[in-house]
Amino acid sequence: MTEAVLETRELSKQFGGFRAVNNVNLRLRQGEVHALIGPNGAGKTTVFNLLTKFVQPTTGTIFFEGTDVTRLKPEEVARLGLARSFQISSVFPEMTVQQNVRIAIQRRKRMGHQFWRSLQHLDVLEDEILETLREVGLESHLRSRAEALPYGLKRVLEFATTVALAPRVMLLDEPMAGLGVEDISRIAELIRSAAKKCSILMVEHNLRAVETLSDHITVLQRGEVLADGNYETVSNDPRVIEAYLGGKSSGNYVL
Ligand code: ADP
Ligand code: MG
Repeated sequence: MTEAVLETRELSKQFGGFRAVNNVNLRLRQGEVHALIGPNGAGKTTVFNLLTKFVQPTTGTIFFEGTDVTRLKPEEVARLGLARSFQISSVFPEMTVQQNVRIAIQRRKRMGHQFWRSLQHLDVLEDEILETLREVGLESHLRSRAEALPYGLKRVLEFATTVALAPRVMLLDEPMAGLGVEDISRIAELIRSAAKKCSILMVEHNLRAVETLSDHITVLQRGEVLADGNYETVSNDPRVIEAYLGGKSSGNYVL
């Protein structure tokens, strides 16, 4: 079996007496795009909050590249190479595209704001900023303020600031949300290309995008894993069909 970069074992979270996440076993494999799907309230965002350590698990274990990270702080797992994007935005609206990417690269290099380091160092930084912007197709917008970008490009910039962190694992929370067809295919392309360098776990409601992008899918329902496998397996699972097409809360989904 391929080595898991991120793994949960019997991960659970209770809020009061309510089990938002119940004994979830997840295995994100090296270089894969793994989708976490399920109806609203299934526990997807809570799983992300557990993985990034914003929320402490009630029980269970989280492994990052084989190391038990269950008790680490958010900044400690971030330093190991876990980056989250989208629903929690990492973009500063009043700064330019270039400044936003610079800040992300500096974060990675843990330079802080020590601009007085050698000039040569800064040149390297500028090259890296340009390279990152080229990778995502934002090089012609480098001097635009982030807030002035059209919505789709703002999402691309968010993606760029996450890519600039050079994470080992990217967590994407609904990367396609609110985007039109053209921007969806653009973000899909970026996800595909990012997956060459890291592993990606994404929550996404657009099942068409999930189908085309994902190597692996986990379906959550009421905090539990309902199904797990590739698109073929998962979309033919009677329980998944029932959950998406049979229940009252379906309607929005097409498998
Ligand atoms: P999803 O992202 O799949 O829509 P969530 O993880 O946001 O689901 O929520 C799962 C369940 O846990 C929901 O019923 C939600 O109301 C509950 N929940 C999430 N966070 C909290 C919290 N901090 N306190 C109490 N209940 C919560
Ligand atoms: Mg959610």
